[in-house]
Amino acid sequence: MRKPIIAGNWKMNKTMNEAIVFANEVKGLVPGRSKVDTVICAPALFLDRLLAAVAGYDVSIGAQTMHFEDSGAFTGEISPAALKDLGVSYCIIGHSERREMFNETDESVHKKVLAAFRHHIKPIVCVGETLEQRERNETKGHVGSQVSKALQGLTEEQAKELIIAYEPIWAIGTGKSSTAEDANEVCGHIRQVIESSFSGNAAQSVKILYGGSVKPENIDDFLKQPDVDGALVGGASLDSRSFLRLLEAAANG
Ligand code: PGA
Repeated sequence: MRKPIIAGNWKMNKTMNEAIVFANEVKGLVPGRSKVDTVICAPALFLDRLLAAVAGYDVSIGAQTMHFEDSGAFTGEISPAALKDLGVSYCIIGHSERREMFNETDESVHKKVLAAFRHHIKPIVCVGETLEQRERNETKGHVGSQVSKALQGLTEEQAKELIIAYEPIWAIGTGKSSTAEDANEVCGHIRQVIESSFSGNAAQSVKILYGGSVKPENIDDFLKQPDVDGALVGGASLDSRSFLRLLEAAANG
């Protein structure tokens, strides 16, 4: 049995004060780490204070992106070494919004995955197809290729630690989620890609999340699927009550 992960992706939302109020509202109510891994991926500016706010509670803090170099002349970027030093334990890598709007490529995603492992940060690697690709029946080919390119050169042990988030681009922030069965089929395909690149063991260990308009009303359907191990949640992670409901669903599922 793979333990579920619920990761909130706040994107560019909240002020520092709102972030800390949220952390204080949820930290004492989250299910224990033995039942679900709770992660909040927040804007970089809030990470330090959030880490302090949830210290001693069963909540992990993640970043939403990072650079692949440890340091250097990269104005405005955030170093994986600095994130690790702060105590950040997860980082979203290759979210479709960064691929679409900030020139993230399969190549930079790959370098960032390697950097995450170098610094013992757990990468949440995002993959997913556009609506046009889905309509042309290219979903599995596209997602499989994104996964293979992101994971080149990893060891089997590293592959086992991976978290992959399957997020169909057309379902993100649109209120239109994939059906749970479709999501499971693509997540199962991702597992097959891991099996052929690494091993059956790695394929069974890797955590695969679904993302795209997940909310308290539909999360149970996704969590029931054998190849879906949790969710990466945008909009519904912004409200503390809704986030707690997602966590309860994962803990009781
Ligand atoms: P959404 O975002 O839940 O608001 O659709 C998901 C994501 O982008 O990770």
